[in-house]
Amino acid sequence: MKHFPIFMALEGRRVVVSGGGEAALAKLRLLLKTEATLIVVTSDPAPEIVAWAGEGRVTLIERAMKSGDAQGARLFYAANEDDAEDARVAELAKHDGALVNIVDNLEDSQFITPAMVDRDPVVVAIGTEGAAPVLARAIKRDLEERLNPRLGLMARIGKTFRTKAEALPFGLKRREFWSDYYSTDIGSETVAKATLETLLNKHLGSNSKEGRVDLVGAGPGDPELLTLKARKALDEADVVIYDRLVAPEVLELARREAIMLLAGKEGFGPSVTQDAINEMIVSHARSGAHVVRLKSGDPTVFGRLDEEIEACEASGVSWSIVPGITSASAAVAALGQSFTKRGRNSGVRFITGHDTQGFADHDWKTLAREGEVAAIYMGKKSARFIQGRLLMHGADALTQVTVIENASRPEQRILATTLGALEPTLTHAKLSGPALVFLGLAPRAALDAAQQHEMEAAI
Ligand code: SAH
Repeated sequence: MKHFPIFMALEGRRVVVSGGGEAALAKLRLLLKTEATLIVVTSDPAPEIVAWAGEGRVTLIERAMKSGDAQGARLFYAANEDDAEDARVAELAKHDGALVNIVDNLEDSQFITPAMVDRDPVVVAIGTEGAAPVLARAIKRDLEERLNPRLGLMARIGKTFRTKAEALPFGLKRREFWSDYYSTDIGSETVAKATLETLLNKHLGSNSKEGRVDLVGAGPGDPELLTLKARKALDEADVVIYDRLVAPEVLELARREAIMLLAGKEGFGPSVTQDAINEMIVSHARSGAHVVRLKSGDPTVFGRLDEEIEACEASGVSWSIVPGITSASAAVAALGQSFTKRGRNSGVRFITGHDTQGFADHDWKTLAREGEVAAIYMGKKSARFIQGRLLMHGADALTQVTVIENASRPEQRILATTLGALEPTLTHAKLSGPALVFLGLAPRAALDAAQQHEMEAAI
């Protein structure tokens, strides 16, 4: 680490900026957020600087910098956007005893200003020692999204409540109270204050921490397809109980201290019974843990969610659902298609290739009609069965069928075929990852080719 991050007290201290153009303005906009006494030395001030001087927010010395201008200053910025002038003023300021930063000149600067996420009094500083400004910006963007815009307000109001919170014993109980407060969505100052009172009463009244269960959608695999709520739940989880299909990149995002448990259900024949999973969820929640039950895609789609909710309810454990992006949504996006299209289909079915009884039965007659669109989950092993049923009920053997393996993951594969050729195409493809079978949908390019073919045939 070449630069050591610190937060410097600037209240009532002098900070001098030399320069009056864009670079000086950028620094001044940041510095105006502090309680420093700001002095700008420039013979050519931008109108904003003149206006700030008029409002008394900065002191403007309208001439070139001279020795002694930075006397008694904590920090000095050389922001003239002119190498020779910046070198000259930096020397003067060093001589006056200030710490010097030359804008866009890492080598000759004594300190650098980090990228910042400002939720005053909560401030995050991000630095890459000049190595990767793009990365610093990406991290900043990520944090801006993740931190509640009202976090600063919450922290300020929280601070005024610290004495009252001492009614709770020091240690775990008090920490739980604050962690509850900071994970609540606060709309306004009044709501924040009321929340603090309510939470304090709740925590004073409860002897032990109450566990709870979040039933969370992990999405199809790409961690960027997680919802912000899912990320937050993973950040806070004490225990994560996840399915085999949840991508490792998503599991990486769980809180480092969280206990990670694989529920390990396989397509055909579960290796851990549903009862055992229910028991695992409920027992951890009852011992006070925040349990995240992480399911691939959307937990409400072929996820045996209701059984787990019923188990929670039977034990008086509170629960909530965090929806996710179902794999069919990611897969259809990979095809460049939409599920519904005017003039083609006004509905879409999500069906399963097999259920607890074996191959699942459906309204084959309806599904066999022209223009029907269906996303078939767990369809790999039942493909021959589905193909047979549909053809038997009169479906056109040339109906477009697409198989998408590992949707949204780096290993994603798309097989465009027809109902008649589905088997043996599928067997030959030797799929090893999770896959969806789309009936009545083709990748956009293939569809265009087929339409063209049809058009040519019609001419
Ligand atoms: N709740 C999940 C579905 C669970 S059932 C969801 O909403 O997506 C498991 C089936 O989902 C798999 O057999 C496969 O058909 C499908 N699936 C899950 N992830 C997938 C992925 N990344 N690509 C393709 N299919 C996937």
